[in-house]
Amino acid sequence: MPTDSLYHRARFALSVAKLSQLPPDEGFEVAFAGRSNAGKSSAINKITGQNALARTSKTPGRTQLINYFTLDEQRRLVDLPGYGYAKVSIDIKRRWQETMERYLSVRRSLKGLILLMDVRHPLKEVDRQLLTWCWQVGMPVHVLLTKADKLNRGPAQTVLLQVRRELEDNAPPGTTSVQLFSALKGTGTEEAYVVLNRWLEVSPSI
Ligand code: GDP
Repeated sequence: MPTDSLYHRARFALSVAKLSQLPPDEGFEVAFAGRSNAGKSSAINKITGQNALARTSKTPGRTQLINYFTLDEQRRLVDLPGYGYAKVSIDIKRRWQETMERYLSVRRSLKGLILLMDVRHPLKEVDRQLLTWCWQVGMPVHVLLTKADKLNRGPAQTVLLQVRRELEDNAPPGTTSVQLFSALKGTGTEEAYVVLNRWLEVSPSI
């Protein structure tokens, strides 16, 4: 069976508004985070081979939910609330920060964070904040530079190398990686599966 089959089995499980409502902290989960409009929903849909699993282009400022997708009894993908809308209140921003920082530090079944950044606008302040929290608690991070189809090959490679160098200069050794990704073209899907398989302890042969 091809390795992507597990991901294609993803099913919506539940949405939660608070960390106290998370499912039992057992097995393996990988979370997806990114600024609003970074292409998070499109990436989740591409990776799971489903057109409408994660909803694209949500309304800003709406109730922010953590969405769980089950892969099998032991494994889950988690869609974290998008962040970075200038319009939301200080209160909502503060609550988002507290929730994310706490989730990253206490969730034992969380094996890694996929951080999505538009290849044309990488490493914004909120992205750096999230990276810093991950590095503080030793959480592995894999960055998808999304919408890679929007740049030509040369400029996309330049951004990839710049971001990789910057992450290598700041991350604890071996915790952080980066790749180009396009949900539109499918570029980088196989590379992303390799990371997900490692974190979720999926053997390539099942
Ligand atoms: P989210 O807010 O992070 O979940 O972002 P969405 O997945 O809703 O995508 C935001 C916008 O970017 C939508 O208009 C998508 O169609 C577009 N988009 C997402 N991924 C790609 C991609 O790989 N290539 C291109 N060209 N557009 C993309």
